[in-house]
Amino acid sequence: IAPRLLGPAEIRDLAELLDVTPTKKLGQNFVHDANTVRRIVQTAGVTRGETVLEIGPGLGSLTLGLLEAGAEVVAVEIDQRLAAQLPHTVSVMQPHTKLTVIRDDALRVTDVPGEPVRLVANLPYNVSVPVLLHLLEHVPSLTSGIVMVQAEVGHRLAAAPGSKVYGSPSVKAAWYGDWRIAGQVSRMVFWPVPNVDSVLVGFERGTPPGEPPGTEAERRAVFALVDAAFQQRRKMLRQALSGVLGGSAAAASGVLERAGVDPQTRGEQLTVQDFLAIARAAASAPQ
Ligand code: SAM
Repeated sequence: IAPRLLGPAEIRDLAELLDVTPTKKLGQNFVHDANTVRRIVQTAGVTRGETVLEIGPGLGSLTLGLLEAGAEVVAVEIDQRLAAQLPHTVSVMQPHTKLTVIRDDALRVTDVPGEPVRLVANLPYNVSVPVLLHLLEHVPSLTSGIVMVQAEVGHRLAAAPGSKVYGSPSVKAAWYGDWRIAGQVSRMVFWPVPNVDSVLVGFERGTPPGEPPGTEAERRAVFALVDAAFQQRRKMLRQALSGVLGGSAAAASGVLERAGVDPQTRGEQLTVQDFLAIARAAASAPQ
């Protein structure tokens, strides 16, 4: 029986056929282990008939796993050779399945067909956080997802206030919902073997599903505050935010107090709701 998923031999043959030398710049590390693929698909809870968005399908390892589970896949791939080959690979290994390939940079897509509800991806490592934030902003139909990222990035995304790794990606991700570490992945399942470990990270949009905690204008204000707070991570908020809250530490303290936030604390202690309270206090500042 012909294999339905890509193993080491198929990955090698496809790479040879396409004359592909994986590039670091595009984070090209391909999964050659069917067990890992099935585990990701299972962890994601993919159900038959639903539309799944995949970023960076590469040679098709995860795409075939998603199709095997009955998903309809919309895949966005930046590399022209890989994007062009994918439908052929799928038609040979899993005919009669539904795949749409978009040849584009995931950071530029805004209009994804099929209203995908779930994101399942082995993300290119160098752009994983910007890609996630971009998709959450521009693809409102996405309600949940499982992504494979570099372990360090995954722990940041899922970090709670007070944790050593809590930072700007943690707060921005929390704007959109809840994040959790959903498993570890050995670097040995990739070709070429990367020099970092990976984790699976899961997210669910906020409650009610899809509802962000504030408006789009508030999101922008919160993200600007977050950037300022974490650019000067070791400084107290009244200092770190003085540039964006009135131009002085005294003015910043006034806004922070009205928001119910201690001006002497640091950004690493604040939840996304605290940042939202600050943004709202700033917007309603007395002139
Ligand atoms: N999904 C495949 C797998 O699991 O074997 C490949 C994953 S590989 C880590 C990342 C993939 O993302 C590569 O195929 C790469 O060409 C693609 N990629 C890199 N940057 C991208 C971008 N900005 N937009 C879309 N795809 C991108």
